[in-house]
Amino acid sequence: MSSYTVINPATEEVVTDVELFDVAGTDDAIARAADAQKAWARRAPAERAQALRDFAAAVDANVEALARLETVNSGHPIGQARWEAGHVRDVLTYYSAAPERLFGKQIPVAGGLDVTFHEPLGVVGVITPWNFPMTIAAWGFAPALAAGNAVVLKPAEWTPLTSMRLAEIGREAGLPDGLFQVLPGHGSVVGDRFVTNQTVRKVVFTGSTAVGKKIMAGSAEQVKRVTLELGGKSANIVFADSDLEKAAASAPAGVFDNAGQDCCARSRILVERSVYDRFMELLEPAVNKVVVGDPNDEATEMGPLVSAKHHASVSSYVPDDSQVAFRGSAPQGPGYWFPPTVLTPGRTDRTATEEIFGPVVTVLPFDDEADAVSLANATEYGLSGSIWTRDVGRALRVSRGVEAGNLSVNSHSSVRYSTPFGGFKQSGLGRELGPDAPLSFTDTKNVFIAVEELS
Ligand code: NAD
Repeated sequence: MSSYTVINPATEEVVTDVELFDVAGTDDAIARAADAQKAWARRAPAERAQALRDFAAAVDANVEALARLETVNSGHPIGQARWEAGHVRDVLTYYSAAPERLFGKQIPVAGGLDVTFHEPLGVVGVITPWNFPMTIAAWGFAPALAAGNAVVLKPAEWTPLTSMRLAEIGREAGLPDGLFQVLPGHGSVVGDRFVTNQTVRKVVFTGSTAVGKKIMAGSAEQVKRVTLELGGKSANIVFADSDLEKAAASAPAGVFDNAGQDCCARSRILVERSVYDRFMELLEPAVNKVVVGDPNDEATEMGPLVSAKHHASVSSYVPDDSQVAFRGSAPQGPGYWFPPTVLTPGRTDRTATEEIFGPVVTVLPFDDEADAVSLANATEYGLSGSIWTRDVGRALRVSRGVEAGNLSVNSHSSVRYSTPFGGFKQSGLGRELGPDAPLSFTDTKNVFIAVEELS
């Protein structure tokens, strides 16, 4: 087995070495998962529900420890990391209700009884990115387990630690051996094996659009089910009739959350031309107020970027000051620090069209409602977005016009475990979270039972 050295992005210190799975180890893990799944699916729904509640309770007891681990591994500010660990508990609690509520239909037909069953798929492979390692893992494993599946999960190379700990917590809480396994490894080895191994019946992938396309193409070979959560370049549309102070004050949190390493980041602020200058005057102090620094400090709002490689990628979008309107502050090294940065590019410049995935936002003026919608839609992505206006009719018109899966009006909220989440266009395929997520880990079976008529 090879290994991978995990680095603390805030200090550049070595955290630990993690052993990586190879193809043979991945196949063994998948075979163990398949065995565990058969017994799990046969368990009474109430028993599976209780097992998930026990898992949620064990996560609850470990919220602080998981949060500290994420802060060390990913550089997330401790307050944010606590929210993430609590969210994992909440996702598990929410889906612990599913085993007892996942029922089919009885459909009226002639000559007998017709019923549907939602059968688990078997083994599900979950491949996660590095930006929200715990929460995105839970969006996959919790509804998949609830629907009667086993899960093998491959975390991103840079950030495996909290997922590995979650699998241990699950075992300590009584989950059957092999049912939920975390396999650290390279995407091209372990992730790719999830796609090619025939025992894995579905791949849930969150990551870049480029890799998502490969996974979809590879999965087609076996008509393997896929859910894809991919990139974004979401618009934050600010109309002149909005509460401009509030829109400007909240815009930094809408994009610089998690240092902009957020697929829902509102990384394109579109402002109605008549209030553009005033908005920029209000935005500058709001950006300066963002507290960037030690992730262990309770006051910190933004930590470092995840790695040296990612820092180089984000930096390549800001080679000089030519597009920079203003920027906030960030510590000097060690650590992969990048200040919150506001750019004013042209509409078709690379910074205005490509996902940067760092604390860099572009601001562009628009002329009217139609121009705002067409500018918002001028991207291959369609994940999320915000609309700031006091006109409810406009809020609805623009919400229906913007091609994106998750929109918010006068807010930047995107994620709630109880509502569906996912992308339009090249931002994804399928939906996670919300009441229907367990169904996406099942196949519907229809059974007709012939019944002789009473004579
Ligand atoms: P990435 O695509 O490089 O990697 C994601 C995961 O896929 C990692 O675990 C990686 O090891 C694995 N992988 C890489 N190559 C693979 C292959 N050939 N086969 C199978 N697996 C492979 O993405 P990233 O850099 O980790 O994450 C950033 C991206 O994720 C951004 O584009 C971001 O927008 C997106 N993202 C989307 C959502 C969403 O819900 N839509 C959420 C978070 C992140």
